[in-house]
Amino acid sequence: MERTEINSLGEFGLIEYLTRNNETRNASTLVSIGDDAAVIDHFGRQTLITTDLLIEGIHFDLAYTPLKHLGYKSVVVNLSDIYAMNGTPTQIVISIAFSNRFSVEALDEFYEGVNAACDVYGVDLVGGDTSSSQKGFIINVTAIGEVAPDKFVTRKNAKPKDLICVSGELGGAFLGLTLLEREKAVYSQTGAQPDLEGMAVIVGRILKPEARKDIVQWFLENEVLPTSMIDVSDGLSSDLLHLCKQSGTGCLLYEDKLPFNEEAKQFAYKLKLDPTACALSGGEDYELLFTISQSDYEKIRTNNAISVIGYMTEAEEGKHIITHGGNKHELIAQGWNHGKSVI
Ligand code: ADP
Ligand code: MG
Repeated sequence: MERTEINSLGEFGLIEYLTRNNETRNASTLVSIGDDAAVIDHFGRQTLITTDLLIEGIHFDLAYTPLKHLGYKSVVVNLSDIYAMNGTPTQIVISIAFSNRFSVEALDEFYEGVNAACDVYGVDLVGGDTSSSQKGFIINVTAIGEVAPDKFVTRKNAKPKDLICVSGELGGAFLGLTLLEREKAVYSQTGAQPDLEGMAVIVGRILKPEARKDIVQWFLENEVLPTSMIDVSDGLSSDLLHLCKQSGTGCLLYEDKLPFNEEAKQFAYKLKLDPTACALSGGEDYELLFTISQSDYEKIRTNNAISVIGYMTEAEEGKHIITHGGNKHELIAQGWNHGKSVI
């Protein structure tokens, strides 16, 4: 038998390949593989379901991640996928596996974070599974949510001329991770305590992200229904390219319009990194990236937490970014491999 290396396909290529024969057998399966969450119809009510796996050494490093924050983040990253469908999360189930390196107190700390997130986002922890592992800590969270009939928003329905919008600020999580990795290296070489002075925002962005519940609430109150939506977990370019691919459009982004936090920007300059590259290719910001039809512009303009960063085009026009200097570059997905992943 032939042997194909996994990294020759990449994460999305692998998922597409493994699920190429997957069939939808039930009429209640409204949206299946390929979006932030699946949509299931339950007697006219629509349920959302999504799951994420977090592996020690791949997705998180306990050298600088407090367990309480890890518990919080494990929940939040799943809730973010429910919000990205324009839904409201209601329940989670959580499974963990751990080696004998972990004590009851350590796991309890993790659960403090889980409970805090359930409190903040109003979700119920309703089950899970517990196992030992040979090495390290493994976490799987599944989130369930609800959405008003036919108000779910997929990655598929963006149209040329729709405005591309993003919530909050970009690139901060990548810069926070870069800072923590740098301080870890300094500590292991010199024993020097980490210097995180003035870096609370970017460190917070990677260790304790929040999901944009407020934006979905705002859509409801202002009667805005995005034409497509995704949460920014892999970097702006990779996630925008998903919207383009699934909607069959091209796009034009404006570097001038990308939203940055000032602290993040200054830290990028200090490291001689380009803040735009951090936003395009750095992941884990958990902001919402969505498109709206132009007729919703007046409404969107009033929300300071939302930036209009470009517009969708016909597919033939390609996918581009206009730089500060007015040059046009092709948008490519540099991908975010969550640090040490092989895919
Ligand atoms: P997100 O970043 O929003 O969590 P992913 O990129 O992880 O989404 O996954 C994209 C789509 O592929 C989702 O619909 C997800 O449920 C599906 N998927 C991921 N891994 C698998 C798998 N091993 N088998 C089947 N479907 C999968
Ligand atoms: Mg997602």
